[in-house]
Amino acid sequence: MKSTPNQLLDYRCRLASPTSLGRSGVSQMYHSHVLAGEGYIILQELFPQLKDKLLNEYDVRDYSLKTECRFVVNGFVLNQDLTEDFLWLGIDRFTLETVMRKELCLQYGNQIEWKCNSRVVQLIVDQSLNIVKGIKYRQKHHVDSSSIDLYGDFIIDCTGRNTSSVKWLKERFNLIVPTIQIHFGAGYVTFVGERFKTGDPSLDSKHIIGYGLSPPDKNTGVGIIPIHEIKTMDENSLGTLSTFTLQCANYEYPPNDSYENLLEWIKEKLDPEYYSIFKSTKVCSPLVSYRRAIDDRKCVEQL
Ligand SMILES: Cc1cc2nc3c(=O)[nH]c(=O)nc-3n(C[C@H](O)[C@H](O)[C@H](O)COP(=O)(O)OP(=O)(O)OC[C@H]3O[C@@H](n4cnc5c(N)ncnc54)[C@H](O)[C@@H]3O)c2cc1C
Repeated sequence: MKSTPNQLLDYRCRLASPTSLGRSGVSQMYHSHVLAGEGYIILQELFPQLKDKLLNEYDVRDYSLKTECRFVVNGFVLNQDLTEDFLWLGIDRFTLETVMRKELCLQYGNQIEWKCNSRVVQLIVDQSLNIVKGIKYRQKHHVDSSSIDLYGDFIIDCTGRNTSSVKWLKERFNLIVPTIQIHFGAGYVTFVGERFKTGDPSLDSKHIIGYGLSPPDKNTGVGIIPIHEIKTMDENSLGTLSTFTLQCANYEYPPNDSYENLLEWIKEKLDPEYYSIFKSTKVCSPLVSYRRAIDDRKCVEQL
């Protein structure tokens, strides 16, 4: 939380494995994320000073979706005919989350208590009233320690898609949340890199590059989002560090054992212009992989 912007970036780039530090349990946070336009608006409403801070201290900037982006789906460039322009913030999710935590502590430090390195292990319920009254949690580094009770008037489960609430609600209230199993074979490989000119101005002038999946015919895609402006004397550099993502559906997973193998995969699966972009890129971080073959979608609306 006390790290400088450069320490954060340095940590992000030297990351050995997604769970080596930071928030274990959120391996997707090291992957490329797009903060869509509406999310950016909400962020600015909640934290009015944040934008200036990000632009001035963290060397990030926002990008015009109309002029600085190339987003292709099924062979069509989607963003060039937008009637209204949108701004996308070019930032890494890891950095954004850390900065937002800092802001929350600054603004509401006396009203929020963070309980870090703790795991919720059970619900405290009143079966006769049919209500959840609190949770039991345990400190992660003291597995043998007894659990601690925490009561609340209003409890929100923010533990993500692998939440244990479904299991606990069944155990405690015999409440069964219906689920549908979806087999989608999704995979990502993300890294941080510096783009250099390919020689094709139609590619080199676009900072955000997207090539959407359209399964089952086209199961592979690309996302490139700038996260940090850099000062460089190299006139072939585009002057930004970006997060690069190769993604797939239907189990056509991109490899992350070496960049050479990843380049071969790109050559085989994607159009030649993406190969030329990745070939003109200097990799500045490990190749971080994420795979999710099956998802259990919870149909809470059916309860
Ligand atoms: C590879 C990938 C790329 C994505 N790209 C995008 C994108 O471009 N744009 C976008 O908007 N979304 C994207 N998403 C989706 C987005 O990441 C999720 O929707 C979002 O992170 C969900 O937020 P959450 O707070 O509900 O859960 P999470 O971010 O998963 O956070 C859950 C937290 O709860 C903690 N936790 C779990 N169990 C316990 C417990 N028992 N006790 C205490 N803590 C616990 C976890 O450690 C974690 O910190 C992407 C997802 C993936 C996997």
